[in-house]
Amino acid sequence: MKRKWLENPGGGISRIEELTPEEQVRSEASTAVKETGTKAEKPQDIQKTDKASGEKKKSASDKKRKAGNSKKQLAENGETLLDVSKGDIRITLNGATGGGLTENESSLNPKGYWIIGKTSDYNIEVKKDVTTSITMENVKVTSGKSSARLDSVNVSHANVVLTVLGKNELICKTASPQEGSIPGTGCALAKDGMDGSLAIQCSKSNKIGHKCDDQCGTLIVKGNSEIMHAGALGSTRRNILDTYDSGFANLTIYGGNLEVAGGAHCPGIGSACVSEKNGGGYTKNIVIAGGEY
Ligand SMILES: [Zn+2]
Ligand SMILES: [Zn+2]
Repeated sequence: MKRKWLENPGGGISRIEELTPEEQVRSEASTAVKETGTKAEKPQDIQKTDKASGEKKKSASDKKRKAGNSKKQLAENGETLLDVSKGDIRITLNGATGGGLTENESSLNPKGYWIIGKTSDYNIEVKKDVTTSITMENVKVTSGKSSARLDSVNVSHANVVLTVLGKNELICKTASPQEGSIPGTGCALAKDGMDGSLAIQCSKSNKIGHKCDDQCGTLIVKGNSEIMHAGALGSTRRNILDTYDSGFANLTIYGGNLEVAGGAHCPGIGSACVSEKNGGGYTKNIVIAGGEY
């Protein structure tokens, strides 16, 4: 199988760059030029749609420059560095907000996002129609403390390539009080609906013949067996009635050490309980690749 995305998954984080807003403008501009020749299916292509609004972006950047102090941290390979312990991370078609960013991005970073941090107060959401790559390094997100954050990570209706480095744990403690109830339930790694895609890999998954070992990143995704409908890697119980959000599809695992466990009435990987009967969604297209591809 030929990889479609991510020529350089993971990369390294031996150095973190801090860019002044002025440098940011320059680096964003040069990135945009560099990306011009990329192939159609790459996540970077989403940036091209921003070209039309290039003028507007410039003036926003000018404003930033005048504002002075704000700095954006970039990982060594150009990904935007986000720390989930500093606030909710939202990745939208207009770029990222939160996660310690002093200023919201005005466009998606074509290099993707590098997420660190441990929290039970905040969570991560990649919004509908966003195509991006995310590296998680030693992240731990536990949901359940707040009814405003039902999932630890939510990638519904987006296209995400997730590279795991170190030990990452997504834990769901969000549950309905009893069987039968639907609202208030979540997943550790939620992906609602039959559209969108999620690929999970280690930093060496693009090397032909690579087999994961203890040196590769780990992703632990857990529901909770003691409470109802606290899901793991799948669709959420709370959205089973909605045709658009019902079901779980298009998961590819290229690598990483995965430990996935469902909760009561929840699969480790797949659709929430009685999805098909209610919203019509079901579990479809799960690929686990291994060895050479
Ligand atoms: Zn590996
Ligand atoms: Zn159930």
